[in-house]
Amino acid sequence: MVYDVVIIGGGPAGLTAGIYARRAMLQTLLLERMGIGGQIIVTDLVENFPGFPEISGADLAAKFEQHALKFGLETKNMVDVTGIEDKGKTKIVKTTDGDIETKTVIIASGTTPKKLGAKGELQFTGKGVSYCATCDGFFFRDKTVVVVGGGDSAITEAIYLTKMAKKVYIVHRRDKLRAEKINQEHAFANPKISFVWDSVIEEIVGKQVVEKAIIRNVKTKELSEIKTDGVFIYVGLIPNTGFADVEKDEGGFIVPYPGQATSVKGIFVAGDCRVTPLRQITTAVGDGAIAAVSAERYIEGL
Ligand SMILES: Cc1cc2nc3c(=O)[nH]c(=O)nc-3n(C[C@H](O)[C@H](O)[C@H](O)COP(=O)(O)OP(=O)(O)OC[C@H]3O[C@@H](n4cnc5c(N)ncnc54)[C@H](O)[C@@H]3O)c2cc1C
Repeated sequence: MVYDVVIIGGGPAGLTAGIYARRAMLQTLLLERMGIGGQIIVTDLVENFPGFPEISGADLAAKFEQHALKFGLETKNMVDVTGIEDKGKTKIVKTTDGDIETKTVIIASGTTPKKLGAKGELQFTGKGVSYCATCDGFFFRDKTVVVVGGGDSAITEAIYLTKMAKKVYIVHRRDKLRAEKINQEHAFANPKISFVWDSVIEEIVGKQVVEKAIIRNVKTKELSEIKTDGVFIYVGLIPNTGFADVEKDEGGFIVPYPGQATSVKGIFVAGDCRVTPLRQITTAVGDGAIAAVSAERYIEGL
């Protein structure tokens, strides 16, 4: 069988593409290497998706999935895409579950959190070092944690952690935050949060689990330490695009062309894995809709 559309990634971008593709009556298959829902599954609270002033990420993901299934989207999870072979009018999507032939591909594979690169980070991952406050915050009730980063993810997750931790230090390498102003205001007003500016984590230290973080001030080069039970890291994103042989920027993000096209005809891109000034649910769903409509028009012209 030859699909009309194969969507890679079951986050907001991929599921929206699925809704639009199915409503256009296209034979569509969505492939997801984990559970359907994408990154928002592990987001505690979403406050900026229109129509939902306050909703948990997991609930929003479940609504996206139900919505896509209502229109008959075929999904397969626990299937990892490893490559795409361009055969002109069709593409072969290579997966851990075999090859799949399709007329178009929509890459909506998102990103993975970047590692800090500090000494001790790998050794203590799962033993105090985490990249997901929603998953692991529970273990830090009445404890002290360090959050590393200055963007929206770092700040919203730090605020979330104040619900259970007794103290949250935000270590940021600059002297101001990149996060949305409203998130900044909430963090500055939170009595449990203290900021450590112009600083990076030099080393994470402990015996069995994290016991302290060694901090280096990037201006004075001075070293200091914070006694902490956990280190939550939000220092950037790596795109999940290694399987795709299309034009990318130096960071591996896919270069989008008008209509969410890529440098290869018949392959489209949507969401966080593309070059974009904003990585949010709203932007991901917009991309997904455009990519699906572009795929439909491309198929009509084949
Ligand atoms: C901590 C945190 C808090 C956030 N809070 C908010 C918020 O409040 N509001 C907001 O708008 N945004 C928020 N975001 C950002 C939001 O989660 C993303 O912008 C959004 O999820 C992007 O959707 P996506 O579909 O492009 O990618 P993703 O959600 O990352 O989904 C991509 C999917 O592709 C799958 N995949 C990857 N590679 C493969 C492969 N090779 N084969 C098969 N499947 C693959 C992944 O498993 C994943 O499920 C937050 C992000 C984080 C990390």
